[in-house]
Amino acid sequence: MAGHAMVVKCNVESCMYNIKKMCHADELEVNPMDDSIPESSDETCCTTFRMHD
Ligand code: SF4
Repeated sequence: MAGHAMVVKCNVESCMYNIKKMCHADELEVNPMDDSIPESSDETCCTTFRMHD
């Protein structure tokens, strides 16, 4: 995909894509926590997260 590469800071160090508090996933997907419409960051989550082996 063309376009800019966003720098993503992330403190979820248990994720396999996290290196020194930066995200190194090729693509990032963020979704609502449930079927509601989020009204704060607490109601969103990174679904690209994968637990370290
Ligand atoms: S995939 Fe999500 S949880 Fe994992 S490092 Fe990237 S932003 Fe953080």
